[in-house]
Amino acid sequence: MIELLERPQIVTVPLQVQRKAQDAYGRFMTYLRISLTDRCNFRCVYCMPATGMKFQPRDEHLTDEELLRVVHLCTKIGFRKLRLTGGEPTVRPHLVELVRAMKALPGVDEISMTTNGLLLGRMAHDLREAGLDRINVSIDTLDPEKFRQITRGGRLDLVLEGIEAAAASGMSPIKLNAVVVRGQSDKEVVDLATLTLTRDWEVRFLEIMPMEGVGIVYDEGLVTTEETKAELEHHFGPLIPVETGPSDPARLWQIKGAKGKIGFISPISQPFCASCNRVRLTADGKLRLCLLRADEIDFREHLRAGITDEQLEDMLLAGIWRKPWGHGVAEGDRHTVRGMSQIGG
Ligand code: SAM
Repeated sequence: MIELLERPQIVTVPLQVQRKAQDAYGRFMTYLRISLTDRCNFRCVYCMPATGMKFQPRDEHLTDEELLRVVHLCTKIGFRKLRLTGGEPTVRPHLVELVRAMKALPGVDEISMTTNGLLLGRMAHDLREAGLDRINVSIDTLDPEKFRQITRGGRLDLVLEGIEAAAASGMSPIKLNAVVVRGQSDKEVVDLATLTLTRDWEVRFLEIMPMEGVGIVYDEGLVTTEETKAELEHHFGPLIPVETGPSDPARLWQIKGAKGKIGFISPISQPFCASCNRVRLTADGKLRLCLLRADEIDFREHLRAGITDEQLEDMLLAGIWRKPWGHGVAEGDRHTVRGMSQIGG
């Protein structure tokens, strides 16, 4: 079953007086997801099409200085949590220095990263030392051959090493993300959930989203949370509910006696737009207001044309004010225009 969201009244707060990142529906934005690159060293079937991927020229990406300037202004208007993503964030040059610089910005409470984990084995220690608090590693199966198929060539052993290196470095909690796709990874959920019996990790199952370039995979592959949960309960018995923070998109559960937790992220069957507190900054300098809607505001051109900090802050505030209410997938809207790796998942 897919839920529809009721749209609330638009609020009227005098934007220029408040100087906080708030949208017209009264939601405060405190969480910035930053794509560091559109490039990736995997080609996951639900993320990129098999052929025809075009990557942006590097001079179209924000430089480190441009990126830090925008992030700094975001912290001034209320952003507290930063997440680095991509593409694959670990292939961005100077990643450790970027983490260190972002962590030093006033007002930043937490920096996390979503990664495929391939390069974590050699980077985890330095990233932790630079101030990276947490990681989410994307992993859809514990079967090396299936992993190779889903990622189109990825090495599971190196990813598992990367996860262990992150855990050993003190990043906590370790979260593992699996996109459940019918016929690809839907039979893997029990193996992945079994990890939580002995490890204090959070294994999170995501519903696939209809991003540009993978529409057919979505049409044929959507497995709802209800189905995944039923599969897990068939194997482990009833899951026990665990309290979840109001803006955490994951609903948490636990297998009886397990050390870790199981999360379900259900953007399609149970959209969480009403509590959305996030916007995205793409590698090419666009503020993306909703993952599943094409609305974007271009900062790169303004940054390169000499915009002042005050003008930039005004643009950020005005942009966030017009964040769309919800993604509208249940109503049939599908206008992402760009793929997940080009936006920053
Ligand atoms: N390369 C990094 C990684 O693999 O985690 C970060 C970028 S990746 C685009 C971020 C997250 O988006 C991953 O957890 C991935 O599984 C998820 N993702 C990609 N395409 C998706 C889709 N169509 N629906 C749902 N999640 C998707």
